[in-house]
Amino acid sequence: MASESCIFCKIVRGEAPAAMVFEDEHTLAFMDIFPVTDGHTLVVTREHAENVFEASREVLEAVAATAKRVAHALRDTLAPEGLMVFQLNGAAAGQTVFHYHMHLMPRAAGEPLLLHTRVPGDPQRLASLAETLARHVAR
Ligand SMILES: [Zn+2]
Repeated sequence: MASESCIFCKIVRGEAPAAMVFEDEHTLAFMDIFPVTDGHTLVVTREHAENVFEASREVLEAVAATAKRVAHALRDTLAPEGLMVFQLNGAAAGQTVFHYHMHLMPRAAGEPLLLHTRVPGDPQRLASLAETLARHVAR
């Protein structure tokens, strides 16, 4: 059930802005507005499902396929030393937006292992990253 106030549903409906990287039938990929590291991207289900338990297998398979596309785009463009892919279910696990999403976070050796930050990314950098990644997402 889509929520009126859900920020990711608003992005899906085009009512909130996002630096979009990729869209298909079941998923969207866009830059995290609070990037923990440069290139931090989210893959979100098009339909509102709160977590891994509510999302259908079909949709989760689409999330995995999109995550792979974005992972390659991140590796091709930013060449990070590592790439963290993670997904949080429930406040106790650190979930802060209760609409299913997967994080792809480029990482460098020795960085602290943060999951979230409250520091917004530079909108121009996010837009430029999204544009570059969108060009490199394998179709
Ligand atoms: Zn939602």
